[in-house]
Formats: sequence, structure tokens, C-alpha cells
Amino acid sequence: MLFRTQSAAVYGIDADLVDIEVDLTPARGEADAPSSITIVGLPDAAVRESRERIRAAINNSGFFFPFHKTTINLAPADVRKEGASFDLPVALGILGANGDLGEQDGVADVLSVGELSLDGRVRPIRGALPVAIRARASKIKSLLLPEENAKEAAVVTGIDVYPVADLRGAVELLAALTAGAPEHRPAPLRVDVAQVLAPDGRASVDFREVRGQQSAKRAIEVASAGAHNILLIGPPGSGKTMLAKRLPTILPPLEFEAALELTKIHSVAGLTGRTGLVTERPFRSPHHTISDAGLIGGGSVPRPGEVSLAHHGVLFLDELPEFDRSVLEVLRQPLEDQKVTISRATMSLTFPASFMLAAAMNPCPCGFWNDPTRECRCTPLQIQRYVGRISGPLLDRIDIHIDVPAVRFRELTGDGPPAESSAEIRARVVAAKERQHERFRHEGIYANAAMTPRLIRRYCRIDGECERMLEQAMGRLGLSARAYDRILKVSRTIADLDGAEEIRPQDVAEAVGYRSLDRTYWT
Ligand SMILES: [Zn+2]
Repeated sequence: MLFRTQSAAVYGIDADLVDIEVDLTPARGEADAPSSITIVGLPDAAVRESRERIRAAINNSGFFFPFHKTTINLAPADVRKEGASFDLPVALGILGANGDLGEQDGVADVLSVGELSLDGRVRPIRGALPVAIRARASKIKSLLLPEENAKEAAVVTGIDVYPVADLRGAVELLAALTAGAPEHRPAPLRVDVAQVLAPDGRASVDFREVRGQQSAKRAIEVASAGAHNILLIGPPGSGKTMLAKRLPTILPPLEFEAALELTKIHSVAGLTGRTGLVTERPFRSPHHTISDAGLIGGGSVPRPGEVSLAHHGVLFLDELPEFDRSVLEVLRQPLEDQKVTISRATMSLTFPASFMLAAAMNPCPCGFWNDPTRECRCTPLQIQRYVGRISGPLLDRIDIHIDVPAVRFRELTGDGPPAESSAEIRARVVAAKERQHERFRHEGIYANAAMTPRLIRRYCRIDGECERMLEQAMGRLGLSARAYDRILKVSRTIADLDGAEEIRPQDVAEAVGYRSLDRTYWT
């Protein structure tokens, strides 16, 4: 007796269909131990281990495990199958072959994924959203998913998503779906995407809560408007993290397609939980002890790293000089290409990684260099070594450095007139971004930060007065030619924030101010 069910496997952030064939043959003699299970079709250890789990789940759900030799084939055979998400479709296939599911035709347009526990409960899996997108593309009508994953899959329209709690529930659901009149079919889970995407006004943080630090806030606004990476330099307790955390709140709201892409990444990483669509721009803040693989992605079957989890949002590296040099080196590819490619012997996968980099550091090893209230005891050599730990190529990708001076904590959070809200700042950022979209419509980029030297020559023309000012600053601060280009790009963004067609002297002057590291350390 042969029975087929359908499932899917996730590779990178996309899923592929997997056909599951279950064949039962009567056991004959000693060679065929009764109730033996063989899985073929390139299963990994986790899939092979599923045999005993599935047997227990079937028995503990009130069904009989067939007293037959059971062969399970996962197709296509040339792609590696990993993990436990085939438990449910394999169990359904066995029950189907055993005659517990009715006709084969009844499950022809049903796809299922889910891990089983020994008592038959269905446990959550990674990548429910990519599975739903793939299933819809294959015109599959119904998708059976663990309850925990159903909401995130249900944002995909055009396919019916049914949450299942346990194996028995899945069998009863299939019976209800295949038998009886259409009006008695169980109702699928529906999610109102428009409502999910609508801002609920509950953003956990807001710039309104940060008083003072006007110049740092301004620098963050400029950085957001032009997609410039930013480095905040200040003593402990000056509010660097507090400021960086609020950066995503002034970026434009996520559009549906971007939210869907982001949710796919978080879904594959197993981070979506019960929330469904990821609608807020992410803020990822990995500790400086993070490994290359943790930052970039990795594992035997590669999973997305922090750079991809920060896609469409902000990657914040606090204590930048404390990060391992090799870890910072691997940031170069995503910063350049907005994606990471991870190669393995068996496959090569690409994850999107378009994020804004925000970093923070103390001005010196003790943290109190240039602090009016505390004395710094670091030697110039110690300071130089400390700053020197950040690799030059990484620093080259950071357009804006800004000093965040010490303030009393009460000043940051105390009473007094409220500061400007994130929504007000965001309105200016959105307007500046629209100007850039218009400007770069035919250039293949979206933001000032991405301008090549050729585009800088074209779009950042400056008049004689600006030119003289810039040359003076270069001489006085000893700035390099690369710093010159960076200042021009940031000047363009400052002019865009003000709705100005041309770059003006005040724009250049402000941009020159965003080169703290050059000014203090590199001269
Ligand atoms: Zn110090």
C-alpha cells in the first residue's frame, strides 16, 4: 500500500516542496522485522531519529502503528533533508497508508509541516512563512501548521492555513476538509494584514523620552535620512545606547513587502513567536563576544546571523573596539553588498543584510577622556591602541562620528518640557528620503550614503565659498581624500533635510563637525 503526503523544507530564507511517499509491505520472515521503518531520500540524523518519535506519537494518539515493513521516501532525493519538521507529514503518510485517512485524492492539495512530541502534540517549526509562500506558489490549497506558527503563515493570502495542536486533531481536520459539503468545511485562520501593519502607537521607545543631547540627536537624524552609518563616542552613562535604540523609530515605516521579507528571515531563525508579521524595524545589539557565525550567519545548515536579523533596521555594536578584529572584518561584505553568502560543501545560501550600522565606543580605555567631571589616566599611546583596534576599512564605511558628552542622568530622563517625538523627527527623515528616491531614480541606489565617487561629483557640486571652507577644514583637521567625499555626501543629506536644492556653507560646516575621530585622534 502506497500513500503520498506533501511537505516543505527551508533552505536559506526560501522553502522547497518535499514529497513524502510511504510504502507498507507485509513483513516476511526474520529478515523483515515487523514494524521496521526505513527512511530514504538523503535524510539527516534528525530526520532518521524521527522514526521512534513518530511511532510513539501514532500509538499515543489512539492509532495503530502498522505491523508492516514501512519504507518512507523523501523526494527529491538529491536534496538534503534536515530537522524534525517532516514528523507530521510522515505520520500522516503512515496513517494514510494504513487506511486511516480515506482516499489518497483527499490530501492531494494539502501540505503539512510540524514536529511531533511522543504524546502526539505538534510542536513549532522554523520557517513557516517561507513554507506558506512556497505552498501558495505551487497552488496548494490547504496548509496544516503547528498552532504557534499559524499566524505568521496566515499573512500569506491565497492559501488556507489551519493550525493543528496534535496528530489526532490533524487527522480529524483532514477528514473534515475532504468529506462533507463545502459549507461544512472548517474555517481557516484569517489575519487582517492591514490591521497588523497599522501602527499601534505602542512603539516601546521614543525620542520623546530622551532630553538633552541635541547635537547627538541631530546627527542621528542626519544619519537616518541619508542611510549613513554612525559612530557615537562618549563616556559610559552618556546615553549612547539609549539614543541608538531609538534610531529605528525615526526610519520610515516598513512596507508590506519589506515586512514580509524581514519576517521570512526571522521565521527561519525561529524568532517570530506568535506575533505573525514582523512590522517594526529591527534593532539588533549583539554582545562584543559574538562569533563570526553569530554575526554573519552559519551552522551546518546555515541560519541567518545578526546582520540579517537587522535587515531593514539597525545593527548596533556597543563597545566597538572590544569586538574581535576578525568579527569586524566579516562585516565588510554585508556593508558593501547588502547581503551575505554562506558557502558550505553541500550548498551555498544567500541571506539579505541591508542594515544601518550604528556603533558606540568610549573615547579611551577608561572612558573619561575629555570628561569635565572625571580624570582620564590613559596615556596617548593607550588611547591610540584602543582606537586602532577598529579596522580602517570598517571605519571607512562610517560617514558620521559624533561626540556624546557626559550628562547627568537626571538631565537625560528627568522632568521638564518633553523633547521632540520620534514621529516628528521621522516626518523630516521621510521627506528627505523621498528627495533622494527622486534624485536617484535612474541610478540604482536609494540613499546619499550609497553614492559612488562618480555620483558624488554629479550630485554634490559645491560653490566657491563651500570649496574654500572645506579646504580649510581639510588642512586644519588633516582630513584624507576619503573624508572629503564623506563630508560631501553628508552635506547633501543635510541640505535634503532642509529641502534645499544646493549644498550650502552651513551644510558643509555641519558635516565637517561629524568627523570627531579624524579631529581628535587621527591628526
Ligand atoms: Zn581614559
